[in-house]
Formats: sequence, C-alpha cells, structure tokens
Amino acid sequence: MRLVLLGAPGSGKGTQAARLKQHLQVPHISTGDLLRAEVAAGSPLGVQAKEIMARGDLVSDDILLGMLEDRFSRPDTANGFILDGYPRNLAQAAALDGLLQRIGQPMDAAVQLEVDNELLIERLAGRAKAEGRSDDNPESVRKRLEVYDAQTAPVIEFYRQHGQLTTVDGVGTLDEVFTRIIEAIAPVREVG
Ligand code: ADP
Repeated sequence: MRLVLLGAPGSGKGTQAARLKQHLQVPHISTGDLLRAEVAAGSPLGVQAKEIMARGDLVSDDILLGMLEDRFSRPDTANGFILDGYPRNLAQAAALDGLLQRIGQPMDAAVQLEVDNELLIERLAGRAKAEGRSDDNPESVRKRLEVYDAQTAPVIEFYRQHGQLTTVDGVGTLDEVFTRIIEAIAPVREVG
C-alpha cells in the first residue's frame, strides 16, 4: 500500500506513521527524518539544510526530490510505503506524481489529519519541552504553520482533485486517531 500522510506540523503524522508501519508492514519515509539524519551526519546536504530547517523554511525542491528518488530505489519500498512530510508544496506534489508514475507505483491514498491551529501550537510547545528539537522554538513554529497554510494546504486540494483524499479528525487519543485512519484506508486496501 502506498500512502501519503498530510497535515500541519504537530498534527500527528510522525506518530501515526510509526504505528501504520507496523500495521501495514511497509517502511515509513519521513523527509524530516531523512533531512535530520543528513544534518546529524554533517553531509554537504545537511550543512545546507540545517539553517533553513531551524528557521522553519522549506529546503529546496531539488534536494528533496533527489533524496526521495534515492529512497524509493531501495528494495524495501517494493510493497509500498508511508510518506510523511512530503509533498509540502504543489511543485513537490507534481514531481512526486511524475516520479511514482515513472516507476509504475502510483499513490493509493492521501490521508489528511485535521487539527485546529490552537491545538497544534499547544502540541508543538509540548514537543519542544520533551524532545528539544531546534525548530520547535516559538518563532520557528509560527513560521512553519505559516508555510503550511500558504504552501502545503493547496496540496490537499491536489489530492482531492485526484480523487485520492480522505480526511480524518486528528483530535483524540492516539488509538482513536489510528482507528480512524485504518477505517479511512480500508476501501483502498481491499482494492489494492
Ligand atoms: P514538521 O512536520 O513537524 O514541521 P518535519 O520533521 O516533517 O516536521 O520537517 C522539519 C523541517 O524539515 C521542515 O520545517 C523543513 O525545513 C524540512 N522539510 C521536511 N520535509 C520537507 C519537504 N518536503 N520540502 C522542504 N523541506 C522539508
């Protein structure tokens, strides 16, 4: 099953993706995690990405696409994947669509996790305390939410127009949200 999770920073994509990975037995591909690994390794790409991420801006589309192409070429994606953190703008959505067509693995479903802004800010403040991620400071959080509304929200329309979108209420316990996602993708799983 090839699945993309959509939702603002703090909407719970990463947490739910980790559970879905167990349930669906496919890898979880988080572009944020891939980038943080580059930063931690101090690679040229990581050096370039570090400041941009700390500010809450988007890293260049070219870098992201190259990274993803690389990741999809690994054999563990043969049975599908859960994509998280990508696409973050319409250009990335089109590039991803093209890439998946080219490798003959079109997306099966896009799941949007819906959470209102007030709760997002609360969750991200909590995560800042718990995990100390350098981009969870108030300024960067504000910036990331802005970037999401301006650039990433249109991606939801992209998947709606492609008939692939399903929207899930992201407010509730982890188990509740997980159950909603499983129910939302059930029709697609039966077909696939
Ligand atoms: P969150 O969803 O909580 O904002 P992520 O871990 O997905 O966090 O991403 C952290 C940062 O990594 C982003 O703010 C951005 O700078 C960079 N990043 C991740 N994915 C992309 C992407 N698809 N395009 C551009 N930049 C990205």
